[in-house]
Amino acid sequence: MSIMNIRETVLDDMFIPIDFVDVPSKSDPDVTHKVKIMMNDTYSCDCKGYKYAGKCWHITQVKEKKEKQREKDATIAELERDYKEGNL
Ligand SMILES: [Zn+2]
Repeated sequence: MSIMNIRETVLDDMFIPIDFVDVPSKSDPDVTHKVKIMMNDTYSCDCKGYKYAGKCWHITQVKEKKEKQREKDATIAELERDYKEGNL
C-alpha cells in the first residue's frame, strides 16, 4: 500500500456519516442532550443516565422519531406507487 492509499483510508474514516440530535431534558427544559447517531444504528448520549447505564430516555426518543419517520416514508412511497399504477 502506498502512502497515498493510507491517506485516503484515513480521510474516508473521517467522513463516516454521524448525526447529532438535540433532545430536551425531561427534568430541565433549559437543558438539551446531544444524542449521537452512528453507523449501524448505534446511539450514544451525553447525559449521566447513558454514562452510567448505557441507555437513556433521550436515545429512546430519537429511536422512536426515526421509526415514525421510516413509517411515514414507507406510506408516502406506497401512495406514490398507487398513484403511478392508477389505483388512486
Ligand atoms: Zn441521554
